[in-house]
Amino acid sequence: DNVLLKVRNLKKYFPVKAGVFKKTVGYVKAVDDISFDIKEGETLGLVGESGCGKSTTGRTILRLLEATSGRVEFEGKDVLSLDRKELREMRKEMQIIFQDPYASLNPRMKVADIVGEPLDIHNLATDKNEKYEKVKELLSNVGLNEEQMNRYPHEFSGGQRQRIGVARALAVNPRLIIADEPVSALDVSIQAQVINLLQDLQEQYGLTYLFIAHDLSVVKHISDRVAVMYLGKIVELANKKDIYDNPLHPYTQSLLSAIPIPDPNYDKKRIVLKGDVPSPVDPPSGCRFHPRCPKAMDICSQVEPEFKDYGNGHFAACHLLD
Ligand code: SF4
Ligand code: MG
Repeated sequence: DNVLLKVRNLKKYFPVKAGVFKKTVGYVKAVDDISFDIKEGETLGLVGESGCGKSTTGRTILRLLEATSGRVEFEGKDVLSLDRKELREMRKEMQIIFQDPYASLNPRMKVADIVGEPLDIHNLATDKNEKYEKVKELLSNVGLNEEQMNRYPHEFSGGQRQRIGVARALAVNPRLIIADEPVSALDVSIQAQVINLLQDLQEQYGLTYLFIAHDLSVVKHISDRVAVMYLGKIVELANKKDIYDNPLHPYTQSLLSAIPIPDPNYDKKRIVLKGDVPSPVDPPSGCRFHPRCPKAMDICSQVEPEFKDYGNGHFAACHLLD
């Protein structure tokens, strides 16, 4: 399989400033040395609690934020060293869909203009007619019709607004879409519709997805592989089946135990973690999960576990596995 996106040792630290002179007193280590690949045509789910660095990961890949260090390759091209002009070209290949479809759509623009704007920016339509036809087709592909083109975002439901955001992202014919919690703000009843739509579009357009969510149940349907993040680190990454049927990392096990199972005969113990997620400023020593881990050992607070492949591309970082 072709690797489309390669992320290596990516770090994004935000300085913490204090005092009258605004001296840097520490760093929020939002993304701290993560590596993964996404193959062409696949969906990688990226899951973790809020504040674990998953959105920062997505934004740093797209260079909406500048990385502190590391490497991002898109089809072998070094994304982090592109100049402005090259970056603009690259934006045609990589698009983002945001969590809040209302905040990300200009409320004063009609839907036709919202979806048509990227066509103008990248000169993808030769005249008004072609632009109109393209916008119409994009909207129809996300389940909206021609009459809705001249309406404003507030005239749509949350699910429809997310569809508009998707149409806008598709306008430049991208290959990779980073979907940053695209259904988290939607009613549960609407979530499946939008996920199904994204799956249909994946086939139709040959898309590759990085699908970010805070909950393992949301990405189960759509993902081919899943990565689990905790406090700026990827702690486990595997095929969907391995993540859900044979999770290796205690954090993944606790996340899975929180998903309600409809079968009353299935006796699943909920693993409740102690305490809250610690601050990413000055994270815990050794394994960052150790203060909350039900299986922590002495070594865990002293030595950081290595992120290793335990077979079949099932990666995890935990001393229990050695
Ligand atoms: Fe728990 Fe130790 Fe494994 Fe970390 S390394 S997940 S603290 S057992
Ligand atoms: Mg987020």
